[in-house]
Amino acid sequence: MALAKKCDRCGKFYEHYPVGNRPGEYNAVAKVRRGSNGGTEYTSKPLDLCPDCMELLEIFINGSNIMQVKKNERRNKAIIDIDISKFEFEERFESALGYTVLYFIAPKELVSDKHPEAEHATVCIEWSDSDKEMDNYSVTISPTKDGEDYDWMPFDLDSYDVAQLIDKVVKN
Ligand SMILES: [Zn+2]
Repeated sequence: MALAKKCDRCGKFYEHYPVGNRPGEYNAVAKVRRGSNGGTEYTSKPLDLCPDCMELLEIFINGSNIMQVKKNERRNKAIIDIDISKFEFEERFESALGYTVLYFIAPKELVSDKHPEAEHATVCIEWSDSDKEMDNYSVTISPTKDGEDYDWMPFDLDSYDVAQLIDKVVKN
């Protein structure tokens, strides 16, 4: 069984990584104080980092190139994982302020890397009623537990999938 670790930066639990001996991959960080002669005076206690925090550290050190690569990796992964036939229409909300929101129940796998405790995910598509062509819809996703959606974040869903989901509601 994998040992659950707790991130010293964000407090999230994660499983030990990297799996196997991967040169150049790290899972903790320590601060070092160097003297004027270049020698190491002391080193802080290492902080264990979850994969997300390690990624942030890599971005901090290596700049935006890494960020773009990681983003693409994530996007590719997301496209493979998303199967909208598993999305279930939950609710339609028409705001008096002139916008429409559709809620869908989605597989928990879409949020389980960040929120393993989630019972399922909720996906929300929102657009302004004045936007007839729906050029400016926004799609967000949140983990759901005990009926609460508690961490909304942007969700990359292509326009074809969005159209399919809206179609589903119209037929509902
Ligand atoms: Zn963390």
